[in-house]
Amino acid sequence: MNPESSPDVLVVGGGIGGLSSAFALARQGLRVRVLERAKEFGEVGAGLQIAPNCTRILAEYGLLEEAKTLGVLPENMVMRDALDSRELTRLDLRDLERRYGFPYMVIHRSDLHGIFLRACRRAGVELLTDRTVVGYRNTADGAQVLLEDGRAESGPLVVAADGLHSAARRLLVGDDVVSSHYVAYRAAVPIEQVRENGIAEKDVTVYIGPRCHFVQYALRGGDMFNQVAVFRSPRALAGQSDWGTPDELDAAFEATCETVRKGIPLMWRDRWWQMLDRDPVETWVHGRIALLGDAAHPPLQYMAQGAIMAIEDGWVLAEHHARLAKSAEPCTAPDWDAALAAYQAVRVEHCHRVQTTARAWGELWHLDGEPRRRRNAIMRARDTYDYSFTDWVYGPTALTPDEEPPMFTPIPLSSVPAADATP
Ligand code: FAD
Repeated sequence: MNPESSPDVLVVGGGIGGLSSAFALARQGLRVRVLERAKEFGEVGAGLQIAPNCTRILAEYGLLEEAKTLGVLPENMVMRDALDSRELTRLDLRDLERRYGFPYMVIHRSDLHGIFLRACRRAGVELLTDRTVVGYRNTADGAQVLLEDGRAESGPLVVAADGLHSAARRLLVGDDVVSSHYVAYRAAVPIEQVRENGIAEKDVTVYIGPRCHFVQYALRGGDMFNQVAVFRSPRALAGQSDWGTPDELDAAFEATCETVRKGIPLMWRDRWWQMLDRDPVETWVHGRIALLGDAAHPPLQYMAQGAIMAIEDGWVLAEHHARLAKSAEPCTAPDWDAALAAYQAVRVEHCHRVQTTARAWGELWHLDGEPRRRRNAIMRARDTYDYSFTDWVYGPTALTPDEEPPMFTPIPLSSVPAADATP
């Protein structure tokens, strides 16, 4: 894109949400400019799980094969009790691929981010770093953003993909983040370092336990091993500000099984992620300014759908633009108001469901005592090939509310007699 020409779309934020949306819009022939606060484009963190509702979109974008060369296709997703390590339930990911038509993949976040960055470059997206957006306003024919250095940028549409602590969200909605009092530690280490730890190299394994859980899977063609340790911080509950520190990490996993305990010393100890989300909101579109990704619907990560929802958002918005353009007279300006209304009509409800389900999942995973035993009994009774709780998420991304499948309602814990519960 010629830097002198004004863009059709300004995207604020060059994370996975911003870049994937920029690419989705650019491949429809739109001129897109991305404004990123950081000095360089990049991602912090380790692995990401991407389910078939994301790999389906990657395939449509022509990016799935590249993702496959960088990621890993695990064989199973196995959930275990973190205290006694017994298996609770599993997904056969080969069968899951047959059901949904696209694979379940794990990939390093910087690899997925890099795939979108290269795709944006090829599609002619203008990628600008060191641009911090501090203000937003609607104009007669679009919207304008104000940069920290006093400059302004305008376009017919502004997509605010500036993440969990979004300035756009603060200005347009004004709500605050919600703390779950949980914190995540991450690590990606050479696989040789963990081979003796009783790991399952070909699976995604999730150990769930009282007030904690632990996730493991291989990355980068199996050369690296990703681990995520999540626990509730007693200091957060006590209202202290310095919560989630490494001493709390060690204490939280003391009672867990050997494989989990062996993983804890490998966690990165110089940084950790407090688990925050926001209450869902109904309005993401404010004139010609649209919230997208974590700025619109930051979830707790228990459904592993945060980055996926951001990628779906961009696909849905671009798809509505394309459909409207196809039915319009040639050379007419995009009908952004109609595209944004269609985007909001379908995405708000879907993401609301994922956010609330993620919170419920967190409660279920972290149970203790009798409720834990009942939960384990329910999970053990589940048929591996029962997909009722994944169909509404892993199926094709809906473009209209009519296409959105009915949501799975979890079985209440009280419906399982205590006598069924095996310790
Ligand atoms: P971000 O990644 O936060 O990107 C926002 C971008 O905007 C950044 O580049 C930032 O620098 C820039 N920015 C911010 N403010 C400004 C500004 N004022 N001006 C200009 N630029 C700005 N999701 C999955 O799908 N699968 C998983 O397995 C998964 N696992 C997770 C595990 C953990 C422990 C956590 C914490 C999250 C996980 N997620 C997962 C969620 C996922 O990481 C996020 O939902 C996703 O990265 C959000 O992308 P985003 O682009 O919307 O926001």
